[in-house]
Amino acid sequence: MLDADTPQLPLWSDQDRVDGWTIRQSRRARRLSVRVFHTGRVEVVAPARSSQRTVQLFIERHRSWIERKREEARRNAGPEESFPPPAIAFSANGEAWKVHVAGGRGRPRVRVAGPALLSIEGDITRRRSVSDALRRWLMRHAAASLIPQLEACAREVGVSFRRALIRRQRTRWGSCSARGTISLNCCLLFQRPEVVRYLFIHELAHTHHMNHSPRFWHEVARHSPEYRRLDRELLDGWRRVPSWVFGDFQDGR
Ligand SMILES: [Zn+2]
Repeated sequence: MLDADTPQLPLWSDQDRVDGWTIRQSRRARRLSVRVFHTGRVEVVAPARSSQRTVQLFIERHRSWIERKREEARRNAGPEESFPPPAIAFSANGEAWKVHVAGGRGRPRVRVAGPALLSIEGDITRRRSVSDALRRWLMRHAAASLIPQLEACAREVGVSFRRALIRRQRTRWGSCSARGTISLNCCLLFQRPEVVRYLFIHELAHTHHMNHSPRFWHEVARHSPEYRRLDRELLDGWRRVPSWVFGDFQDGR
């Protein structure tokens, strides 16, 4: 997962001018690839200078596979989660937080009210403000929990990085800039410790190799021999993220 310079292409055929399709060009991509995310979003990545025709043919060739995956995604969407969530569980560190809705008036705020107890205070019909406050807490909590873990992992493998920060992105779990800044997605908190450690190893290896070359993977494999399986699990990790983390909320009145 690199910070790639990837302009987004327009969608080329009318047939593909539907929700949830992205076609982008990547200077780093060597071949065409397609991914279907758990939300049903489809992303096609094309090497720079691919012709429209090539991309269209690629999509046609894989259309039945893509449709099957989208159908699966729709089936797995599951029931609506309640909001505010009654509990928040973090697989990464085994924490299970209870969420108490204290209610009251004014702007909603989230407060740590005890060990593994969050309190939401204020007017909870302002759903958007509640979700914003929860997300701010999630970001702070991810920084406090994940960054020290990353530092420990870096010491363990003898790699240094310049700094780390937490982001909340829908499509990438981490990145490493040429200057040695490692970004971690706050949603890593919802992944298993093994998977989180693999992501750390992956980004730390980028401080030596700014690419996904065989040498890069060799370094990853040295510290995370099961990286292939863990990488697949991470790719699928979005389905373990509760919907409030990215949901769009309308205020109740
Ligand atoms: Zn990478």
